[in-house]
Amino acid sequence: MNRRDALTHAFLSDLPNYVGSQNTFLQAVEDVANDVLPVEKNDPAYAAAKVLRRLAEPDRVLSFRVTWEDDDGEVQTNRAWRVQASNVIGPYKGGLRFHPTVNEDILKFLAFEQCFKNALTGLPLGGAKGGSDFDPKGRSKREVMRFCQALMRELAPFIGPDRDVPAGDINVGTEEIGYLFGAWRKHAELFEGALTGKGLSYGGSEMRVEATGFGLIYFVECMLSERGDDIAGKRVAISGKGNVATHAALKAAERGAVVVSLSDTSGTLHVADGMSADLIQWVQAQKAAGKDIDTPPSGSGATFNAGGVPWELDVDIALPCATQNELTGDMAKMLVDNSVSLVAEGANMPLTSDAVDILRRNDITHAPGKASNAGGVAVSGLEMSQMSHRRFMSAEEVDAELKGIMQDLHGRVADEGRDGGRIDYARGANMAAYRRLADAIVAQGII
Ligand code: GLU
Repeated sequence: MNRRDALTHAFLSDLPNYVGSQNTFLQAVEDVANDVLPVEKNDPAYAAAKVLRRLAEPDRVLSFRVTWEDDDGEVQTNRAWRVQASNVIGPYKGGLRFHPTVNEDILKFLAFEQCFKNALTGLPLGGAKGGSDFDPKGRSKREVMRFCQALMRELAPFIGPDRDVPAGDINVGTEEIGYLFGAWRKHAELFEGALTGKGLSYGGSEMRVEATGFGLIYFVECMLSERGDDIAGKRVAISGKGNVATHAALKAAERGAVVVSLSDTSGTLHVADGMSADLIQWVQAQKAAGKDIDTPPSGSGATFNAGGVPWELDVDIALPCATQNELTGDMAKMLVDNSVSLVAEGANMPLTSDAVDILRRNDITHAPGKASNAGGVAVSGLEMSQMSHRRFMSAEEVDAELKGIMQDLHGRVADEGRDGGRIDYARGANMAAYRRLADAIVAQGII
């Protein structure tokens, strides 16, 4: 190979391939299809409208290059997408994720799930998801800002308060939303709620940061009260160390649960007799500073089990709050061996199909994320209405609304999923969301 061939070869093999498989998307669709297709088949209006076929293909997928300059003055390129899945019940709505694993498959799955989740909230919110393969790890704040501005230059024409309203997701928090909103405002020459998760000083909602984690615990409390039980004294394993995991941990601890773990991909932080709020806040501070959690403060009672997963621990409740497919079949067997009685998802689809089957066969109650983690997007919905009214609620008011939404959502899901003495939460969530979407699709004709 001559020198030029080697250069060309290196150049070509460096070019990204955005057209991969879509196994994750198909996994999410299959889960819904198993529950809804038999119903669709027997309902003449739903069958004629081909409801699931239409929901299983996004309205559109925007795909774009993001070019920005790093701190060394070097040009960087990333790929970003916005998957607008359905706006049949409200404007497109869903988060943006920055992570090297982000691709079209992952975003199609997340946008599909978001349609169902948003329908369950009872609010007028369609489904979307977006993000980029940009890895913020090790990047300076200025680099993150420049990346957000470059991304928004491409995305801005396609979003707006009644069109498509992005929010945060993995690695996109208040800071990133601030940069994105600033860039959108400049582009649009408007001050409108085109994003949620904004800071409190420019149109954000109280409790948006806490909402997903707190909402998860409110949902778990509803699940437990179905059995005449409550969360006080229950041993709870949580995976993840991000926004959802740490706020679920804080709320569970406040309600008297014994939170024994948080985790990241390198291992599990473990406290046998329960984490204090101080330790959970230390995890939040480490994450915010881009630091690891493997050296817990002395006196916290915590140990870090490198390579370990929370599912090996002896607990009553498991809350996977990290990312999709984190909890495999083998790990589900650990939950069975440890006599876990309840699993509720803080992340989106954190269980593999094998894991779901194992829980089902062993009669372990399992709430899917589209129901149990809907508190985040629900408070985004409240942020949208506060922004439109130009009137903002107190933290207490938003928290009370969030609790009410999670209780109503639980009621709708439980009613659909009741099966003799038990509740099939996965089926309940799929069916309750499907009916709302299907009725809207049928009513709006063939379009
Ligand atoms: N990313 C969050 C979710 O998975 C929130 C989306 C939003 O607030 O729009 O539901």
